[in-house]
Amino acid sequence: MSKILDEFLKSNLNDLKDNGLYNEINVVSGANGAVINVEGQELINLSSNNYLGLATNEKLKEVAKSAVDSHGVGAGAVRTINGTLDLHVELEETLARFKGTEAAVAFQSGFNCNMAAIQAVMNKEDAILSDELNHASIIDGCRLSRAKIIRVNHSDMDDLRKKAKEAVESGLYKKVMYITDGVFSMDGDVAKLPEIVEIAKEFDLITYVDDAHGSGVMGKGAGTVKHFGLEKDIDLQMGTLSKAIGVVGGYVAGTQDLIDYLKVAARPFLFSTALTPGDTRAITEAVNMLMASTELHDRLWENGNYLKDGLKSLGFNIGSSETPITPCIIGDEKTTQTFSRRLMEEGVYAKSIVFPTVARGTGRVRNMPTASHTKEMLDEALSIYEKVGRELNVIS
Ligand SMILES: *Cc1c(COP(=O)(O)O)cnc(C)c1O
Repeated sequence: MSKILDEFLKSNLNDLKDNGLYNEINVVSGANGAVINVEGQELINLSSNNYLGLATNEKLKEVAKSAVDSHGVGAGAVRTINGTLDLHVELEETLARFKGTEAAVAFQSGFNCNMAAIQAVMNKEDAILSDELNHASIIDGCRLSRAKIIRVNHSDMDDLRKKAKEAVESGLYKKVMYITDGVFSMDGDVAKLPEIVEIAKEFDLITYVDDAHGSGVMGKGAGTVKHFGLEKDIDLQMGTLSKAIGVVGGYVAGTQDLIDYLKVAARPFLFSTALTPGDTRAITEAVNMLMASTELHDRLWENGNYLKDGLKSLGFNIGSSETPITPCIIGDEKTTQTFSRRLMEEGVYAKSIVFPTVARGTGRVRNMPTASHTKEMLDEALSIYEKVGRELNVIS
C-alpha cells in the first residue's frame, strides 16, 4: 500500500475515533421492518425511512420475484444502449401520473438524481440559490454543475427574494435556479412552496424541489408539490423510490421537454446501468398502490401524531415538525448520544443526530414512525422514552 495513503487513512480514522465521531455501523439481521434484530436484540425500529412499510410488503415481494423470472436480475446495459426495458417505460408513465406531470425519468438512486438533473440543467454561466439545510446530494449536484452557489437562510422568504433579485439584476448569470428540500429531514418542516412559486414567477427562477421525504407522505402520498397544488409551477420535481416507496432509485418529473432533455444530458442516465427488473416492477406496483388507496398514508400520519402527542405529554421538546418525522431535541451532544444508546439497551432503535449534521447544541434523537408500527409498539417505545428521559434528567 502507498505510504501516503496509509498515513492519510490512519490519521483520519484516529482523529474521528479520538473525537467520538467515528460511526460504528449496526448490522440488521433480516428485514428492515417495524421491529428489527440488531446483534441478537429485538428492537422497535424508529430509524428507517420505510414510512409506509412497503420495504417488506408481500405483494411487492411477489411482483419483484416474478419480474426476475421474466426479465432476469439485471437490466444488462445503460438506458441509452439497450437497458431500457418495457418495465422502465411502464414505471415512468406511472410516475408521471402519480406526480401530475407530463413525463418522468427514473434513476438508480435519489442521490444519483440530484447528481444527474442539476448538472444537466445548470452550468458555469448560471447561479443556484440553495436553502442552507438542503441534503448533501443537492450540495454535491450543485457543485458538479459549476454554477455559482448562493446559500439562502433556511426557509427565509425575505432572504430568498433579496438574493434572487440581486442575482437576476446583476446580469452575471444566464439562468438562476432555486432548489429546496420539500420536507426537511432533520426537523420535519415543509418548504414554503406557495411563496417560493410567487418569488420564482417574479424573477423567472427555475424551481427544483427534492421531495425525498415528501413523496408517499405529503399530498395524500403524491408529495409536497401536489399537497400545495403546484404541479404546473414547479419545474423539476425530484423524489426517491427508496424511502416511502420502499425499494431503491429516484426520479425527476416535469414537462416532456425536460424529461427528453434529461435523457440525452443526464450523465448517470447515459453512463450507469439501469434499475434492475425486480426493483423496477416492485416500484411500479408500490406507486399504483399509493394511487389506489390512502390507507397506508393515513396510518402513517395516525402513528406519527400518536407518537408526537405521547412524547410531548411526557415533556419532551419535539420541535416544530409538520410531518411524521419526530425529532426529540435533547441539546447537548454527549447526552444525546447517551440517550440513544440507553434507548437501544432498553429496546428502541432511534439514532442520535448531532453536530455537524445539525447545529451545535441541538442534538436530537430522531424518530421515524411508520405505517407498520402497532399502537402496542409505540406505547412500549413511549414508556422506554419516559424511563430513559427521567434517568438522564431530560424530563422531570
Ligand atoms: C435520502 C435523500 C436523498 C437520497 O435518496 P436515495 O434514494 O437514498 O439515494 C436525496 N435527497 C434527500 C432530501 C434525501 O433525504
